[in-house]
Amino acid sequence: GLELRNIVKNFGAVEVIRDVSLHVNDGEFVAFVGPSGCGKSTLLRLIAGLDKPTGGSIAIDGKDVTAISAADRGLAMVFQSYALYPHMSVRENLAFGLENTKVAKAEIEARITDAARMLEIEPFLQRRPGQLSGGQRQRVAIGRAIVRRPDAFLLDEPLSNLDAELRVSMRAELAALHARLKATMIYVTHDQVEAMTLADRIVVLRGGRIEQVGTPLELYNKPANRFVAGFIGAPH
Ligand code: ATP
Ligand code: MG
Repeated sequence: GLELRNIVKNFGAVEVIRDVSLHVNDGEFVAFVGPSGCGKSTLLRLIAGLDKPTGGSIAIDGKDVTAISAADRGLAMVFQSYALYPHMSVRENLAFGLENTKVAKAEIEARITDAARMLEIEPFLQRRPGQLSGGQRQRVAIGRAIVRRPDAFLLDEPLSNLDAELRVSMRAELAALHARLKATMIYVTHDQVEAMTLADRIVVLRGGRIEQVGTPLELYNKPANRFVAGFIGAPH
């Protein structure tokens, strides 16, 4: 499991994450929701190891990883900004970082084929990211995480750039992927329908603090306050 203990993050004098503690079980699907600027991406980056907390600690399977680099945490992150390599083809972007590992070439090919089919990006494998639409790039970014077979996926609004139809089909694909890989997923979204349908538990953030954590049903039936109720769309 993943354990966040009393995480604080300051940017200069501004406290962006304020005393966040959270336990995520192995294989759990957890959604982070909350208004723009509440600290969702910052928290995800801290979990990924791309940034260091100002205070508190992070443990994975009981081991303190607060000082361990992103590459050694066994997580794969899908960024809000996609972060693809512009000079590489989609195929190369997917394979990058896997080629010099112990994963066999045939296995890499099989994973790419599988992810490309699932994400409907097969026709674009030879193109560069600059020759794709935003939604296509977003799916390549998800594909890059999938082919790594990480223990945990950190997804920052991975479907935000897709049209309604594709968003619904990708939502189903992500649910199927989660069921198949049994990987932990931490999923940032603005879309409460997405959070309610995909997540085992939802974490509602506001101003860098956790307002409430619970299953979709708990949050819907027993929101801790009007803010949570408003955000989840529960009656209040
Ligand atoms: P959104 O839904 O818009 O993506 P978010 O919840 O992901 O928002 P964050 O990106 O985590 O929000 O940002 C939280 C706060 O921290 C914001 O007020 C933002 O301006 C600030 N912030 C983020 N990164 C930095 C940085 N590198 N330096 C200074 N302030 C930052
Ligand atoms: Mg964000």
